[in-house]
Amino acid sequence: MPACDICNASPGPDAKRYPAKQLRAAADGGYRPRAVVDGFQAVAARLGVGDADPWGTWLDIVRRDRSDWLLCRPCAADLDNHLRKVAAGPLPPRRRGLFGRRP
Ligand SMILES: [Zn+2]
Repeated sequence: MPACDICNASPGPDAKRYPAKQLRAAADGGYRPRAVVDGFQAVAARLGVGDADPWGTWLDIVRRDRSDWLLCRPCAADLDNHLRKVAAGPLPPRRRGLFGRRP
C-alpha cells in the first residue's frame, strides 16, 4: 500500500505526485515539513537515539532520491504553500544602507 512520502499516512485518493527535482528545489529553498520532525522523533525515541538531526537525514534523502514523491493532501497543501511563497518573490530584498556604506 502506498504511503505519503513525508508523513507516512495513507495518501488516499487526493494524493499528489511531485517530481524529485521539485522536492529538491523546495528543500533547498527552505521547505521543512513539520511531519518529518514528528515522524523522525517517534522513530528516534523508539530506537533510543534522542537528539539525532532530523533535517540532515531528511535532506540527504531528498537530495539522493530520484523517484517521484507521493504526498497526502495535508502534506501537498503544505508543500504547495511553500512553493507559492517562493514563487511570490525571492527572499526579502537586501536592506541596502542599513549596514552598508554611509554617504
Ligand atoms: Zn503526508
